Amino acid sequence: MEKALQEQVSAFRDFVKKMANYDSAISCLGWDARTGMPKNGVADRAEVIGTLATEHFKMGTSHQMEAFLNELSVPETFQKLDEITQGIVKECKKEFDRNNKIPADRFQQYVVLTSNAEAAWEEAREKSDFQSFQPYLEKIVETNREFIEKYWGYEENKYDTLLNFYEPGLTVAKLDQIFGDLREKSVQLLQKITASGNQPNTSFLTENYSIDDQRTFSKFILEEMGYSFYSCRLDETVHPFASAFNPGDVRVTTRYNSHDVREALFGSIHEGGHALYEQNVSLDLVGTPLCSGTSMGIHESQSRYWENMIGRSRMFWEKYYDDLINQFPDQLGHVALEDFYRAINAVQPSLIRVEADELTYNLHIMIRYEIEKGLINGDIEVADLPKVWNSKYEEYLGVTPPNDGEGVLQDVHWSGGMFGYFPSYSLGNIYAAQFANKIRQDLPEYEDYIRNGDLSKIKEWAKENIYQYGKLLSPNEILLQVTGEELNSSYLVDYLETKFKAVYKL
Ligand code: ZN
Repeated sequence: MEKALQEQVSAFRDFVKKMANYDSAISCLGWDARTGMPKNGVADRAEVIGTLATEHFKMGTSHQMEAFLNELSVPETFQKLDEITQGIVKECKKEFDRNNKIPADRFQQYVVLTSNAEAAWEEAREKSDFQSFQPYLEKIVETNREFIEKYWGYEENKYDTLLNFYEPGLTVAKLDQIFGDLREKSVQLLQKITASGNQPNTSFLTENYSIDDQRTFSKFILEEMGYSFYSCRLDETVHPFASAFNPGDVRVTTRYNSHDVREALFGSIHEGGHALYEQNVSLDLVGTPLCSGTSMGIHESQSRYWENMIGRSRMFWEKYYDDLINQFPDQLGHVALEDFYRAINAVQPSLIRVEADELTYNLHIMIRYEIEKGLINGDIEVADLPKVWNSKYEEYLGVTPPNDGEGVLQDVHWSGGMFGYFPSYSLGNIYAAQFANKIRQDLPEYEDYIRNGDLSKIKEWAKENIYQYGKLLSPNEILLQVTGEELNSSYLVDYLETKFKAVYKL
């Protein structure tokens, strides 16, 4: 690389490093605000975060950034760059285009709209009053359509543009097919499960479980997973989350319910899966926008893999059930492993997405996907949402919400304009099943590793194949490199059928 270019690259890398530092500070202040900041500090903290976020946004959309991108994107220059700098150029260009295509005043209006909409949604949900939220949602949908049609553009389907913000490369055409197969098989399986005479007893899971003991056990399991407490923390919040500032500092939160041992146990394993990903991104990517999971879907594949495919597997509890009994002898001492295993895998069609089991969860997501796609393409009107919502719940899950608070108003996402995000949750399950199939091929002693509590072997495989790359590879590149196959739901269908036929003795 000639000297002038070297200097140019180094100036660019310093520039993005500064942006990454702002980002890290914003995350840290956000974590602090959600985990225990005094209430009276809220207003000032929002302003501090706002100031830093504005600086970060300005840098990413600045003339300086434009100049860097223009120079470094010239093909003969680009090919001389190292792989990481190439990745940073691509990532910054994507963000630059997304944010700069919209006129500043329209963007500003939209930010105000969504912030008002969130407050309106909160009140509407509490009162189960969809009509009070309807005008906000109509404007949000309208604005998204306008942004797509006038500024962001689209090829085949308007909704593709939104999907791509969260899952680069994904299209409605692909997703319709993948979700279509999964839906049909899931509904069939669910009908058999509901009709089965072999329903597991779950009553012992909701006895009184001391929160101190739950805390001890959550920490123990996270350590077993390879979650390093030198690089992390475990705290408590109402809405659990994982937050990463750099691979050396990744924090998770959980929520303890003294009358349901499942919540913190599987919640901690889930967030721990997100955290393992972030802790094991290559240190070469620190200080760049590539130092994070590659997409929402791949991130969710890791949390759901650890939570469901390991944490809710029989082999996992063959190793850890004795430890759990030692922690809770009165509640579980009389419960056989098989009964415990069946109980933590109980399937129950329900109204609320966040409380759904492993099988029905995807149906909740598909309902939201179909509605979003319809709204953005003008096939569904906002005014009809409660009706559409309720009829889909009846059709897929056999349940009807008694009111809109437990129905169409239950999720915060739409009030913030987050269309295109929901599919990531189910994509996570789909990717996870594809990866799990490959791990079994690569590690012939896979089941024994889990039975023996040798989970580091699993973590190392995931680090090698997925975690280390951060955003350097796109979701589809990772999937192809690891499995040699395109995204498809057949592995998830097989996994669900095998597992639940055994649990329900079908
Ligand atoms: Zn998650």
